[in-house]
Amino acid sequence: MSETGRIILVGAGPGDPDLLTLRALRALEGAEVVVHDGLVSGEILDLANPQARRISVAKRRARHTLPQEAIGELLVREARAGRIVVRLKGGDPFIFGRGGEEVAAAQAAGIPVEVVPGISSALGGAAAAAMPLTHRDHASVVSFVAGQCKGLSEQNWAGLAGKGRTLVIFMGVATSAAIAEKLMHDGLAPDTPVAVLERATLPDMRVLRSLLADLPGLVEREGVQSPALIVVGDVAQLGASQIAEMERVN
Ligand code: SAH
Repeated sequence: MSETGRIILVGAGPGDPDLLTLRALRALEGAEVVVHDGLVSGEILDLANPQARRISVAKRRARHTLPQEAIGELLVREARAGRIVVRLKGGDPFIFGRGGEEVAAAQAAGIPVEVVPGISSALGGAAAAAMPLTHRDHASVVSFVAGQCKGLSEQNWAGLAGKGRTLVIFMGVATSAAIAEKLMHDGLAPDTPVAVLERATLPDMRVLRSLLADLPGLVEREGVQSPALIVVGDVAQLGASQIAEMERVN
């Protein structure tokens, strides 16, 4: 095995290239191979070493192009050939990014692996919407959950949402009706504020607000597309448009 071969898992942030860390940028500049998924924009990929080979392993819901084991094998194979392999992921690699599985694949193969954290879309999106995920008057707990079909009904979200708590749901657009149902079944009030942060931090970002009972209606009416986050809790009514309104009043 070559001495230089290694794998760097890099969080690319939520989309806006300005939200890359300096360490992520340096890793991209030094990359020989960049393995990226669908959420990473061309603008960010263009910051990589122009000589680096780019490999897309884009995953789309229900249309996985490369199974996770194959991605692990690809990373290991490239690193074994002596290359610096950057595995570029949207947001942070360890928040619903399967980063843990790729670290394990590297370790099992005896390949050095490093993780560069990224700004998760939950944090980037909240900032872009000026929506504080915690707030002394509204929420002292914040939870991140995955809302995709697989296992949604088995997941126990009891106690994660409600008064004083903020719930951020990833991958929940397609299942928003089941999500609203599940939360109300767990006792959450139908008039709990919700917000949808679509394409957060990108130029065409949308922030949509409503109440829990109307979440599926909102998604339907507005034609919400992935990637989007659903925020459930009192903080969902805070943020950019409210600030704009306040400015108008003053
Ligand atoms: N590791 C990523 C999450 C990967 S799971 C992170 O830390 O952000 C993919 C989900 O992330 C999407 O379905 C969506 O819910 C969310 N997501 C990623 N980028 C987003 C963006 N720019 N705007 C809104 N949601 C985003």
